[in-house]
Amino acid sequence: MSVDNLHNFEPNPDDESNRLVDANADGDDMLVEGALRPRTLDAFIGQQRVKDQLGLVLAASSARGRAADHVLLAGPPGLGKTTLSMIIAAELGMPLRITSGPALQHAGDLAAVLSSLVPGEVLFLDEIHRMSRMAEEMLYLAMEDFRVDIIVGKGPGATAIPLELPPFTLVGATTRAGLLPGPLRDRFGFTAHMDFYEADDIHAILVRSAALLGVPLAPDAAAEIAKRSRGTPRVANRLLRRVRDYAQVKADGNVDLALARAALELYEVDEIGLDRLDRAVLDALLRRFGGGPVGLSTLAVAVGEESETVETVCEPFLVRSGFLARTPRGRVATPAAWQHLGLTPAPGTPFAAATLPLEAETGSDLEQE
Ligand code: ADP
Repeated sequence: MSVDNLHNFEPNPDDESNRLVDANADGDDMLVEGALRPRTLDAFIGQQRVKDQLGLVLAASSARGRAADHVLLAGPPGLGKTTLSMIIAAELGMPLRITSGPALQHAGDLAAVLSSLVPGEVLFLDEIHRMSRMAEEMLYLAMEDFRVDIIVGKGPGATAIPLELPPFTLVGATTRAGLLPGPLRDRFGFTAHMDFYEADDIHAILVRSAALLGVPLAPDAAAEIAKRSRGTPRVANRLLRRVRDYAQVKADGNVDLALARAALELYEVDEIGLDRLDRAVLDALLRRFGGGPVGLSTLAVAVGEESETVETVCEPFLVRSGFLARTPRGRVATPAAWQHLGLTPAPGTPFAAATLPLEAETGSDLEQE
């Protein structure tokens, strides 16, 4: 039992940057994720359609003996985009260079990366939608003609010096495919749309990660953690590590169902993956505002958070889970939200009529944003 493990037992409820169910990587994740990443397409669990399509793209490029088509990986954080880029390079037998949109603020930043690639190298460009406009324009030409124009000088005397590049494969990743300009999107030969994982796949990922981490994990405990992982491998792996800490400190290291439940209860991750803040938002919406409609900023004040935190951190999963609807008049709770918190809406509440018979349909008259 290490001091670190003991330390982990004081989850700070006020520290939202440290949410266990956040799909973005924190420092701790980065240390461990390297060891947990599958290294081949076969070992990559789930996303079968993406795997099949990608397998074809890679096989075709090997058959032609040319650099593979550029690939765009689109989907929410934590679903395996970085992992897939590493697999693409490994399957092609090529080195991988990693950079990200925010690091390419000047065209020169991108020119420096592109001009130092070796032939066939795979360039992973994370958060590609956050690249600067100048870098983006340079990338168009580089993707299409394997060439960039380096501008020397300023004003009327400026000259463009063309620079040939080695053929390379760009793997772009984005959480916001809709923000990519059409010309950039069109230059990818293949776009993989990654979706949240089924519970069975998350279960399989947990079993694999537990084996790699040497955690004795009972199948029903794996299923329990899977249910609370929001369909996101990164969240699943993080919950597994916290449950392992609990098992090492409070028990003999084995993770069975009762232990997994006790640990996740301590960390305030409920049976469908809502954490304390998610539930606080729902609770305020239901108890204080009668299920809404209520404006985002009012709701945020009610839970003592910034509007942006509520909007970007809690709402996507609440909407995805069918608990909250964003309507032109404000946020509204659905019958599922009332049920999840074990509350009964007063008559006249939005959806109240639909709430009483449990199987009633959710309101289709509300416009989703
Ligand atoms: P993204 O780049 O989309 O944010 P990552 O590729 O960094 O996501 O994946 C996050 C974590 O989830 C990694 O530790 C990786 O091991 C794990 N992971 C993601 N997808 C899978 C998968 N299909 N099978 C096994 N582990 C996965």
